Amino acid sequence: MSQPSIPARLPRRALRGDLLDFASSPGWAELDSPAPRFRPDQWLLIDEQGRIAGVQAEAPDESWQREDHSGRLILPGFIDTHVHCPQLDVIASYGTELLDWLNTYTFPAERRYADLAVARAGAERFLDALLAHGTTAAVVFPTVHKVSAEALFEAAEVRGMRLITGKVLMDRHAPDGLRDDVAQAERDCVDLIQRFHARERLAYAVTVRFAPTSTPEQLAMAGALCRADASLYMQTHVAENRSEVDWVAQLFPDARSYLDVYAREGLLHPRAVLAHGIWLDETDRGVLAETGAQIAHSPSSNLFLGSGLMDWQALRAAGVAVSTASDVGGGTSLSMQRNLLDAYKIQALRGERLSAWVALHAATRGAAEALGLARELGSFDAGTLADVCVWDWAMGSVAQARFEVARELHERVFAWMSLSDERNLAATFVAGEARYRRPATMTASAP
Ligand SMILES: [Zn+2]
Repeated sequence: MSQPSIPARLPRRALRGDLLDFASSPGWAELDSPAPRFRPDQWLLIDEQGRIAGVQAEAPDESWQREDHSGRLILPGFIDTHVHCPQLDVIASYGTELLDWLNTYTFPAERRYADLAVARAGAERFLDALLAHGTTAAVVFPTVHKVSAEALFEAAEVRGMRLITGKVLMDRHAPDGLRDDVAQAERDCVDLIQRFHARERLAYAVTVRFAPTSTPEQLAMAGALCRADASLYMQTHVAENRSEVDWVAQLFPDARSYLDVYAREGLLHPRAVLAHGIWLDETDRGVLAETGAQIAHSPSSNLFLGSGLMDWQALRAAGVAVSTASDVGGGTSLSMQRNLLDAYKIQALRGERLSAWVALHAATRGAAEALGLARELGSFDAGTLADVCVWDWAMGSVAQARFEVARELHERVFAWMSLSDERNLAATFVAGEARYRRPATMTASAP
């Protein structure tokens, strides 16, 4: 995809701090990895087009607007590859597994997004919340309503964010007010693609909620859209929970597996993002690798809903890209650090260890590569857009004490990943522009 053209409009900016990004993909459990690029106490230069111009030790001259964040950690903005805009209102809902949770909490919340004013207010609140958690790019589910996708695209464009979304397709097994039909859904998709796809930093994703809520005819229509334009993304859910897998097997008796329902309609391709991927087999993993489709691992959601423990190692061994996602409202926080810590716990329950390098790479450069966007974001490579976050290394006495005794880099970064959250975030820049600054009332001296 060509790089979005952003007109020169900004002061040249330089941020001083401890820079951490990735030059390549770290090996599994390799703590002394050459992949992380840690450059303590350096200046990150951002040009007037909002792009990374370079990194240097000495302060640039006064033609640059200098911000001294020395003693702070500077990372590329996080990329959340699976999150639901309308579900902020049902985050932390008690007591159910996936299918009950959808009916009890999620569908009623989504129905309200038929209203343009609700959709607009919800989109703005959601994107501002992402920015206040250090997430600068996202692959997002709105609702079945066309206006919910329009509202997200428009709000993301105003903020200069990389956003991938599309109207949700669901024409069965959903309550009144949340179903479309094949013909109307196709017209809505085509119209949204024409208006928003590849406009600035926006991209359209053909968005199948999950196999049970689309008829075979609707899945075929979605596949035809993907085949007609290889630059479109596709997003859906797959193999999240065992009852769901059993239901899909009943609904699609001819399919070899849940994943095969998507594969045989042409929905798997290098721009396909599938959330969860817990209950897959070896053949499924081979199909994902062959088609280039990626898994959006949603750890806090998987633990909260009791869905299962994703086998990251097996996906990796098969050659499948894994990125990380909050999956709010099934997930319990938009904070990527909290989700990465949950990912660590999931691997621990599997008898594996997830390094901070693999985790942070999956949330930055790894996700950008999997989405085909590494030339635009995800690292501090010169020429990429400056989606950048400035973090305090430690907030509060416990984190501060832990930080001070950390001996080497991985230990320090792992402790940061495990103990930090959005309260550590000092500032968020999107394409070089400040889009979030921590209010003065939230200071680093909190106990
Ligand atoms: Zn989801």
